[in-house]
Amino acid sequence: MRKKIVAGNWKMNNDLGQTEELLSKLLKKMPDTEAEVMVAPAFTNLRVAFDTLSQSPVEVIAQNMHFAENGAYTGEVSAEMLKSVGIQTVILGHSERRAYFNETDETLAKKVDTALQHDMTIVFCFGEELEDRKAGKHFDLVESQLKKALFHLKASAWKSIVLAYEPVWAIGTGETASPEQAQEMHKFIRETIASNYSEKVADGVSILYGGSVKPDNAKEIFSQPDVDGGLIGGASLKAKDFISIIEAVQ
Ligand code: PEP
Repeated sequence: MRKKIVAGNWKMNNDLGQTEELLSKLLKKMPDTEAEVMVAPAFTNLRVAFDTLSQSPVEVIAQNMHFAENGAYTGEVSAEMLKSVGIQTVILGHSERRAYFNETDETLAKKVDTALQHDMTIVFCFGEELEDRKAGKHFDLVESQLKKALFHLKASAWKSIVLAYEPVWAIGTGETASPEQAQEMHKFIRETIASNYSEKVADGVSILYGGSVKPDNAKEIFSQPDVDGGLIGGASLKAKDFISIIEAVQ
C-alpha cells in the first residue's frame, strides 16, 4: 500500500509567535488519520516546530536546501544543517523556487543527489505552466522534468522520493485542476515511472497533488486512484482548513 500524505507548505509566512500559535492549534485538533502529515515552516522556525511536534505524528520538513555540503553560498542552508535540527525531509523544485530563484532541472538533480546522500526524503515538485497545457505540451513537459531531475537515480532510491504534481496555473490562484485532470496526469506519471523503472517502483511512489486544494475540493481530488494526498499552500496556514483537508484523506 502506498503512503497517503498531506503536507502543508507555509512558504514565507508566519514569524516565531505566529508559528507557535499555528502549531498549538494543530496539536490540539490533529485528527486520527492514516495519512502522514507534514508541515514546512520557514527555516527560522524549523527548530521550534520540531521541538513542539516531537511527541506528535506530524513531521516537520524544510522548504528547500542547497546542493553543496557547505561553503561560500551566502543565504543558503545545507542538508547537514537541516539534519542537525532534526529535519529528515525536504521539498525540492517548488515552482516558486524555479520561477523566482532560477532553479533548473539540472540544479535540482544535484540537490536530489545531495539530499539522498544524507538519507533524506524528498518531496519533489514539478508541473506545467498554463501555456504548456494550452499548447498540449503538459505531458511532455512533466516527463522531461522528471527525467532530468530524477531518472538518473537507481530504482532503490525511489523509496525516498515523494512526488508532488503541481500545475503552476493552479498554485495560489484559486483555480484547481479538475479531479479528472489530476487523475489523468498522475496516471501518466506512474506509467512513465513504470516504463523507466518497473511497475513495482511506480506502484510504491506516493504522488501528491498541489494547487489550490481547499476543504471543499480535497475529498474529490484525493479520491482519485492515483492521487495519494496533497501538498497544500494557502489552506495550510489556517489550522481549521488544514485539518479538514487531512480529514478528507480516506
Ligand atoms: C503550493 O505552494 O505548493 C501550493 C499548492 O499552494 P496553494 O495550495 O496555495 O495553491
